[in-house]
Order: sequence, then C-alpha cells, then structure tokens
Amino acid sequence: MEPCVSVISLAPYSIFRINREEGTFIMPARKQHERYAKLVVSGTHKTKKDFGEGQFEWYTTPAKALAEDLIRDCSQHGAFILDGDVEPSEQRLLDEEEKLKQTYAKWIEEADGIFNRTGDVKLLTLHAREAAKALGVKRAWVSGLENMTLCEFCKGSVPYNVAKCSNCGAILNWEMARRGGLVSPEQIKIAVKKGWLQPEEEEDDRPSQAPAALPVEVGEPRVRASRK
Ligand SMILES: [Zn+2]
Repeated sequence: MEPCVSVISLAPYSIFRINREEGTFIMPARKQHERYAKLVVSGTHKTKKDFGEGQFEWYTTPAKALAEDLIRDCSQHGAFILDGDVEPSEQRLLDEEEKLKQTYAKWIEEADGIFNRTGDVKLLTLHAREAAKALGVKRAWVSGLENMTLCEFCKGSVPYNVAKCSNCGAILNWEMARRGGLVSPEQIKIAVKKGWLQPEEEEDDRPSQAPAALPVEVGEPRVRASRK
C-alpha cells in the first residue's frame, strides 16, 4: 500500500485551500462539536514537469513532503501531521490544543496593542478575530472585524464582497470584477474557460441550458489579476 499521512487541524476555520499540480487540497474547518478535522493525503503524487518542445519528466512528491508543504504557512493554527490514516492520541490533542490556546492569546495581545495605539481595525489580522472567538474574549475591535474576511491567496484581511483583494490583487469575485471592469477580456476568457465565470449572455430572457449543470471547480479563483 502506498504510504499516506493525516493532516490534523484544530482550527474552527479552513486553514488552507491550495491548488497544486498534484491536485487541490482543502483543509476543512473543525466542526463545532468536534475537536479536530482530518485530511488524508495519500499515495505518492506523480506530476509531469514540462520543459516544452516535447521534453518532460515525471517526478514524484511523497505524501509526507506534500503535507508538510501544505501546512507550512499554517502550522501555527493548530495543524500537524501524523503518519498513516490515523487519529491523534488524547495526549497529542491536549498538547496541540494548549499550544493553539497560547498562540491565540498572543494574537489577541498583539491586536490589543495595535488597537490601543491606533484605534484602526484595518491594521488587525483576522487571526485575532478568530482567536478572540475561540477563547470567548470580548473586545471592541472584534465587531469591527466582523465584516472582514480572509483573502485565501495572501491571507490578508479584506472586506466581504469585494471583487479584488487590495493586498495582493487576486480576483475574489469574478462576476463583480467583470461588471466593474477590473479584469481584461483575456482574463475573462480564461475565467470562463476554467468555469469560474459564466459566459456573458447576449439576451437575458433566453433560458440558458448549461449553468446549473456546470461543474463548479473547487478553489475557484485561481488566476491572479496582473497588477497594473
Ligand atoms: Zn490577497
């Protein structure tokens, strides 16, 4: 049997949604009454490295290396890897929960410091909001962060319902970006081809056949808008 690993996450929010050549990997949020969420990364992933002009090479990514890469930027959020398709031990869970609590406390303290100095919620990270929620602490800045969400590309705070991330320029809502003229015709073409965006209809009253049946790809907006 091919070796596999389990990625365990204690976070009550999804800590990554990563598109790689090996596939799309989504770490689900821990459910409310559960202590962790688990993602099994299995097998040895084979991908083709194309050098152009018919030159290519197959290379393999072992499950463990892949999993380590996936959690590299989010291990602080209570993510860890276990060998095999297994459940964490009680002791490991207690240790990791304690570690996460300390991280949360640190984030809240940092947010307090920034907010007391500046009074500006936009300077705070959403990590602080999640930490305050998780530990059940009340802070004036938490409500200020309520209408913010996390850009899945750069992990920065952005208001809900924006077409484009102001930090990294990634398109977060293709439909809005198209209406607002924020994307080029070329980018629209790619987005339509990838299924992130419905083709623009000439006539609105013509019943369309495809939309509902179109498979929605996981990890929709993958093309970053070029910065102008
Ligand atoms: Zn961003």
